[in-house]
Amino acid sequence: MTAPKLIVGNWKMNGLQADSRERIEKLAEAVKSAKSGAFDMVLCPPATLIATVGWFLKESSLKWGGQDCHAQPSGAFTGDISAPMLKDLGCAYVILGHSERRQYHKETSEEVLAKAKAAHAAGLVAIICIGETDAERTAGKADAVVSAQLAASIPETATPENTVIAYEPVWAIGTGKVASSDDILKMHALIRGKSKVKSRILYGGSVKSSNAKEILHLANVDGVLVGGASLKADEFMAIAEAS
Ligand code: PEP
Repeated sequence: MTAPKLIVGNWKMNGLQADSRERIEKLAEAVKSAKSGAFDMVLCPPATLIATVGWFLKESSLKWGGQDCHAQPSGAFTGDISAPMLKDLGCAYVILGHSERRQYHKETSEEVLAKAKAAHAAGLVAIICIGETDAERTAGKADAVVSAQLAASIPETATPENTVIAYEPVWAIGTGKVASSDDILKMHALIRGKSKVKSRILYGGSVKSSNAKEILHLANVDGVLVGGASLKADEFMAIAEAS
């Protein structure tokens, strides 16, 4: 039997209490009626919604996570959230090194590695994002960039159980441009070959219900990381069901 695909929703900085409750309840209901064990689903809402998500999902097989954490467990870091704090809110996962954090917060792979260590110490599964920009791909540097990020972002505490790698070409995130099946196959094979641990490898970048089936059935694609399309309960469920 093949392992269930991992379907992760990243809500980014979207959602207020009132408009999110209905969406969360709808998802929990849909997951309840899905074939058990068909897929693993994780929701990563903004920090302000984690407690609400946890409350609605406490009886559900759907798990939830944060979108970032600090490398220290506590301290004078105004505005930051630590891995034990996420764990305290019932999170099982945390997304780390997302390209929007690498771009807008200048996060380096070394910082991502330190955050992943902190996530592991707190008992969280770290979803570590890597991926090349458009300029890097055009310059023929995609393989080198992804290999370097992989080598520098994954700590020695990583195991197949506590770490997930998400290949997210930056040019495909939120743009509607999806990497071709051939590009995904090649990059996932490269990541599989270079990974020290046999983690699950997700693809992310403009995944929607219309392209999910093809992507999810490619070799070495163990699931998908979904941004925009995870904000619509029906669309997100359709992606999961494509697995
Ligand atoms: C993401 O935020 O990780 C992502 C892949 O976004 P989108 O699905 O909107 O491209």
